Amino acid sequence: MHETQVKSILSSSNGMNIYRGCSHGCIYCDARSKCYNMQHDFEDIEVKANAVELLERALRSKRSRCMIGTGAMSDPYMHVEEKLGHTRRCLELIHHYGFGLAIQTKSDRILRDLDLLKKINENTKCVVQMTLTTYDEELCKLIEPNVCTTARRAEVLNILREEGIPTVVWMTPILPFINDTADNIRGLLNYCIQAKVYGY
Ligand code: SF4
Repeated sequence: MHETQVKSILSSSNGMNIYRGCSHGCIYCDARSKCYNMQHDFEDIEVKANAVELLERALRSKRSRCMIGTGAMSDPYMHVEEKLGHTRRCLELIHHYGFGLAIQTKSDRILRDLDLLKKINENTKCVVQMTLTTYDEELCKLIEPNVCTTARRAEVLNILREEGIPTVVWMTPILPFINDTADNIRGLLNYCIQAKVYGY
């Protein structure tokens, strides 16, 4: 893990990555691609030390409210978040300034911030997007080794449903000869149906 100062945090489409790099270790991760010009190991997490400050400045100066997205290129609930809490502080700002949130993760650490997710959803809208790749728990430990397995993610989806927070599932990637079986797709769809997710 290393710290850096960045010039901006929100993209033109109101997305942000609070960290750069990711420690979940998914074997298929395309965020490692050289096209993103990362100057350090992907697992050596870059902590954008001024991310919270930049987000506050950006939200304060926006003329109209919108959804803020995060989690596309780096999971906001990696191990480092337990200690640093930058994601939580960003969520506090999003709530404070009355914005909505679309947050994507594979980690059950998101439940730590359930109180904030609920407040944002009551105030505006909060959508949690969870990635489910394989119904096979042993396979999951192999292809996504450093994050909770699919069964736990399904539990998280059910908790979010009980708490009234809408969820969406990304069933991706479908890897040829690894998780492209009918049994796997059926298993994942059953999780989605049980959790009453809004889209998959
Ligand atoms: S969670 Fe996403 S960003 Fe992190 S390693 Fe897996 S695919 Fe890559």
